[in-house]
Amino acid sequence: MTRFDRVLVVDWSANSTPKRGADSIWIGSAGAQAGPPVNVATRTEAMAQLRAAIRATLGAGQRLLISFDIGFGFPAGFAQRLTGRAEALAVWDWLAARIEDDAKNRNNRFAVAAEINRHFPGLGPFWGRPDALDLPDLPAKGRAREGHGLAELRQTETLCAGAHPMWKLYTTGSVGSQSLLGQAHLARLRAEFGADLAVWPMQDTDAPVVLAETYLTLIDRAVKLAEGYACKDAAQVDLLARAFARADLAALMEPPAPRDVLQEEGWILGAGYAEALLQALDAPALTPPRLRNDCFAMPQGVDWIPVETALTRLRDTLSRLTATEQIATREAGGRVLAEDLAARRSNPPAPNSAVDGYGFAHAGLSGDGPYTLPLVAGRAAAGQPHDALLPQGHAIRILTGAILPEGVDTVVLEEDCATDGARVVFDGPVKPRMNTRRAGEDVAAGAVFLPRGRVLTPPDLALASALGVGQVAVYHRLRVGVLSTGDELLSDPSQPAAAHQIHDANRPMLLEVLRRWGHAPVDLGHAPDDAGLIRARLDQGAECCDVIFTSGGASAGDEDHVSRLLRAEGSLSSWRIALKPGRPLALALWRGVPVLGLPGNPVAAFVCTLIFGYPALSQMAGSGWRSPAGVELPASFTKSKKAGRREYLRARLNAGGAVEVFASEGSGRISGLSWAEGLVELPDDALQITPGMPVRYLPFSSFGL
Ligand code: AMP
Ligand code: MG
Repeated sequence: MTRFDRVLVVDWSANSTPKRGADSIWIGSAGAQAGPPVNVATRTEAMAQLRAAIRATLGAGQRLLISFDIGFGFPAGFAQRLTGRAEALAVWDWLAARIEDDAKNRNNRFAVAAEINRHFPGLGPFWGRPDALDLPDLPAKGRAREGHGLAELRQTETLCAGAHPMWKLYTTGSVGSQSLLGQAHLARLRAEFGADLAVWPMQDTDAPVVLAETYLTLIDRAVKLAEGYACKDAAQVDLLARAFARADLAALMEPPAPRDVLQEEGWILGAGYAEALLQALDAPALTPPRLRNDCFAMPQGVDWIPVETALTRLRDTLSRLTATEQIATREAGGRVLAEDLAARRSNPPAPNSAVDGYGFAHAGLSGDGPYTLPLVAGRAAAGQPHDALLPQGHAIRILTGAILPEGVDTVVLEEDCATDGARVVFDGPVKPRMNTRRAGEDVAAGAVFLPRGRVLTPPDLALASALGVGQVAVYHRLRVGVLSTGDELLSDPSQPAAAHQIHDANRPMLLEVLRRWGHAPVDLGHAPDDAGLIRARLDQGAECCDVIFTSGGASAGDEDHVSRLLRAEGSLSSWRIALKPGRPLALALWRGVPVLGLPGNPVAAFVCTLIFGYPALSQMAGSGWRSPAGVELPASFTKSKKAGRREYLRARLNAGGAVEVFASEGSGRISGLSWAEGLVELPDDALQITPGMPVRYLPFSSFGL
């Protein structure tokens, strides 16, 4: 059960004297009885407030989640050595029996830490103390420690950038001190409330009150932008409580690691879910800042600028425009990851068999074979583990995907065996661990397996699912409006047309390109060559789109109303790009929304969309700048090209694998676009192309189509 009526987030403190304000105890509260963050001066007072909140919740028949920014467990091996049990809650009780912390915050944490250190070999693991304290078993410096045999970080901390080790007791980030004191107080709370109170993730979370540890820094991005709080601590507890109250806690509380790790080390609630928490807050931080007003400014020289310069300029000025959202992995195909994905479990999670056959311990084979091993009863199959130990010198029937039973490390293929049901016979040589898969040999739990910015492919969904990731943070789809302009255009191809009218060809083409790129196309329709009507469409587009594409009217002629309007009201920069087919590209901001003014010619509009639109939109959608991967292939055509501009020809591969180009270069020839399967890119210099010469071919697939 993961619905809570109320959430409290406690910024705990290890102060030795009562203190208010920054770096003292703050309690944030969201959900039922939500209120502003509360500041208390002592731990005794904080615990009294928490007890009151718990009683009120139980009295009202409600559920309460309390999370603390302390560690609930220590790195593997600690609990076992200290208490004889590999359980964090055993350490809590151990501490509760020893920690003294009075109503004025006077406490014995350093002495207790020194006592703990005496249970471990060498020096450590705890370190850090005031100089005045003379405790030989508690070194003042971390590097003085040696031989204590424990890791610095818990597994969960490796997912939280900047997390401080639990061993540090003094000065900045001394989470260790806070945790020693906190765990002792919480152990007493457990004793008091019994079955009404459970600790996540060590216990079931069905109890009405659940305690969890968390990490305030998870929501730093929102905290940085928050205004009106007394101090950073107040903003942290308030915002994190609200994020927990709104987030999908079922997903956050799914067991994030193997049971033994959770029992012993604990887990930070929200580790790996920072984006989801920020999204739940809907913090303004999540919608990235709009583009700067002068982002498209280009020195207007006499010269035409090379394509490469234009691309570099775009790459340097455009940034991501979309906020994040949390969605189910199975629905995330084609979406852009807004977080690094870390494996929640290993693949495979346990050692298993790669084939159908017979398993045994390699060490039990003697001689060179053939080998005869008695078969034990039963079998191991995928989803049906065989729980008993296999005695050495025996074999067991095992099927693909079955966990290797204890005592099995090697499997022979069924086809290489003979059996009468009681024994199995096979030939050598047999290599140890043959036909088995190691736990985590594909991906180990905790490893980052996909980076932020990745556009998720079908195999990515398989991988994420296998690794226990059921929810992912992705960027919202980029909403791209498409507007056609021109007095001659008709929207509906089945409409009767007069001789001076043509059907709008660009809009259906561009909308489909955008859809294939995974953006959210928005049809802004068609506007005649009239400033007022174009203005109205652009206004409408600026309301509901992140980017707007227009086609037509983008040059500097009499009827080029798009560029005239954008110049007057949208800080237009005409980029004179040395490109054929192309003409100038109009780039502007309309009410803060970037507008890409494409030429009207369908061929030019398409080429400009691929060359400039593809990388620019990828960048604005959060997946980074993308350049098409071209291949050098022999030409099957002849062409003499002038210097001073780059040219793109409609092309495809002929049966012999050479590049052929469309018979006409006329930029109104839409049939050539439909004929083509890619473009040939001819460099800026003059060039005489003859059959057999290598040319750069860019298949449409290299533009994500
Ligand atoms: P413009 O850029 O407005 O000067 O238009 C250049 C050429 O492209 C003209 O022949 C227009 O009729 C044609 N054109 C403009 N927009 C479209 C469109 N949406 N569909 C088909 N042709 C168009
Ligand atoms: Mg026109």
